[in-house]
Amino acid sequence: MSKVLPEFMVHNGKLTPYGEVVTHVMSPAVKYGLSVFEGLRGYWNAEEKQMYVFRLQEHTERLFQSMKLLRFDAPFSADEINDKTLELLRANKAEEAVHIRTIAYLDGMGEQDVRGPVSYSISALEKARNKNVSKGIRCQVSAWLRLSDLAMPPRIKCGGNYVNSRLARFQAKQDGYDEAILMNQNGHVAEGPGSCIFMVRHNKLVTPDLTSGILESITRDSVMELARDLGIPVVERTMDKTELYAAQELFLVGSAAEVVPVVNVDGIQVGSGNPGPVTTQLQQAYFNATTGAIASKRHWLTPVYQR
Ligand code: PMP
Repeated sequence: MSKVLPEFMVHNGKLTPYGEVVTHVMSPAVKYGLSVFEGLRGYWNAEEKQMYVFRLQEHTERLFQSMKLLRFDAPFSADEINDKTLELLRANKAEEAVHIRTIAYLDGMGEQDVRGPVSYSISALEKARNKNVSKGIRCQVSAWLRLSDLAMPPRIKCGGNYVNSRLARFQAKQDGYDEAILMNQNGHVAEGPGSCIFMVRHNKLVTPDLTSGILESITRDSVMELARDLGIPVVERTMDKTELYAAQELFLVGSAAEVVPVVNVDGIQVGSGNPGPVTTQLQQAYFNATTGAIASKRHWLTPVYQR
């Protein structure tokens, strides 16, 4: 696979040269942000010479959930998305960690009320682990609130939702932080612009529940399951802003981000100011699960190559 751009993408079911996947500027996708997408990772296991896609089926199911909510009439099936994802990785001869982006969007030149035509694309770009996973990041509680479920559904992944993420992230960076944490409309902690949040408090792992204005995150689900397997008590509940400062440990999770320690919020040190023991234990468990080192979690992995 090229270090710059891969040879192929999938466009409407066909392997297509990367630079040739185009859509018209008058499409509802461009005009109104009417796209839904997934971001997932493929992990290379050097020992087995195998590429594993992490929780492919769950990502595809969420893509269809997003399309359902936005009333997209998809002319393709979930099986097609799964199959084409694997076909793409094989065509690009992927042998490094990749980030896969699947986008379904309203193509053509219709207005806001059309249900189609729906096109889709899949890309897979090499993406190494972010260095933040070891050193941790400094966050700002954003003045921007997370989208309300009464206005736009934060639980799905549609392109337009990321205007909200962008505003919060730009503010945080401009103010000298690495990342934002958004509160919801009820005044409780929601999530990051592209990740969910966990804290360790009173020796329990706590994360905002699914009605807190968050994406129904697949990494969040994976981390909770790994924690339970390790005997760590897990609680899903509303979280207050000041708990971010009072937490023993804090971290963000997402398919791209993986498990990122948060060592400071609004200039206030979290715990010891270094990645904490529960965070690093769960981080390691997550890395192990993604490459097949945890036998009971191998059903999360879809192999790309026939060996
Ligand atoms: N929240 C938001 C807003 C996100 O964009 C993401 C990244 N997809 C997440 C949470 C984490 O979701 P997942 O674990 O499914 O990648």
